[in-house]
Amino acid sequence: TDIEELLLSRIRDVADYPEPGVMFKDITPLLADPAAFTALTDALAEISVRNGATKIVGLEARGFILGAPVAVRAGLGFVPVRKAGKLPGATLSQAYDLEYGSAEIEVHAEDLAASDRVMVVDDVLATGGTAEASLELIRRAGAEVAGVAVLMELGFLGGRGRLAASLAGAPLEAL
Ligand code: IMP
Repeated sequence: TDIEELLLSRIRDVADYPEPGVMFKDITPLLADPAAFTALTDALAEISVRNGATKIVGLEARGFILGAPVAVRAGLGFVPVRKAGKLPGATLSQAYDLEYGSAEIEVHAEDLAASDRVMVVDDVLATGGTAEASLELIRRAGAEVAGVAVLMELGFLGGRGRLAASLAGAPLEAL
């Protein structure tokens, strides 16, 4: 579609970043283009509303840049999922494996209620490890998963398959 072409044209491929052999998808040109940023925000908000979300969870850090305007556009609350040690209140934590080592993310437990349906927003779905851990946090907080909405899915990394169990039938939508 026209929107897909617009978005794709504003994503920059950076070779060998952050390490040799990796082709990094840089979304800063898209953010700097008001037509593209607005189209992206509108599309992610439409997915969220269509799937009955009541809250947007954004994944640090680019998920904050995208998730906050999506939440405002959709008329929903925004809840940050942060790297461990950044949130001041009572948190739930979830560790997950990286290629080398592991990472941990956290959410304020009181920001998600049992009545919430949560849409996870991020820029890029790669291996799916970060999104999978965030879905675990949402379920452990007692809330329902409305789905995962991303700008781009790197299909060759198999993230969609990794997420299948934790999505439990909820949609993964990539623009
Ligand atoms: P995953 O956990 O392997 O799916 O990695 C996803 C996380 O890493 C997301 O929060 C992305 O923002 C980030 N990420 C991975 N690859 C890229 C990329 O090529 N461009 C931008 N962000 C990326």
